Amino acid sequence: MATYIVLLGPPGVGKGTQARLLSETQKLAHVSSGDLFRENLKNQTDLGKLAKSYMDKGELVPDDVTISMIRDRISRPDCEAGAILDGFPRTPAQADALEIMLKEFHGAVNVVPYITAAENILIERASGRWTCRAQGHIYHEKFNPPKQARVCDVDGSEVYQRDDDKVETVTKRIRVYFDQTIPLVEYYRKEGKLIEIDGTQAVEDVTKVLLASLKKK
Ligand code: AMP
Repeated sequence: MATYIVLLGPPGVGKGTQARLLSETQKLAHVSSGDLFRENLKNQTDLGKLAKSYMDKGELVPDDVTISMIRDRISRPDCEAGAILDGFPRTPAQADALEIMLKEFHGAVNVVPYITAAENILIERASGRWTCRAQGHIYHEKFNPPKQARVCDVDGSEVYQRDDDKVETVTKRIRVYFDQTIPLVEYYRKEGKLIEIDGTQAVEDVTKVLLASLKKK
């Protein structure tokens, strides 16, 4: 049976960083809905153009297009053993759709780590975040700057600030998260799949707690 780990957490909590690390240690594909939208945007696809109008405002892209994009992604061979789902689902309708599609792919959501932190910390983290253009490696202007300004340590590509990481949009995205995604916390808690993790700890400590709790589950 394929293993799917849904990572929940507000913008700025370090979810993307942990998802990458988990994907390496668990040998599961990293499926990030935000990265998929950004890839579509870069390639100027119709989906990318549609998504941009929502992303720029810090709003969620409509469920139907998001669900079909994820369905397409997890039907690829590298997701046969499962995946780390980062940023999806974000609404109850997406969670329902995920359950149905995973049955089809002979898998299920096994565990749902929920990384969390207070709003002021999230705003500081997300609005200081810089991302590498080529592969999405993540830096922070204060807490984790690249060795050479604006150059990715890993692949040498440009490190830039995402438009939606500017402070006004970040604040909106965090509100949208608390409005629309928090119901999922309860949904997975009731199913006994939720693991709550304090996202204010250092990155390495969050990873340690995350790996230890996955082992227990
Ligand atoms: P992220 O990189 O996960 O913070 O996502 C960036 C933006 O992409 C979000 O602010 C939304 O506009 C859009 N997005 C990402 N994932 C989803 C999703 N599951 N449902 C709807 N919109 C999404």
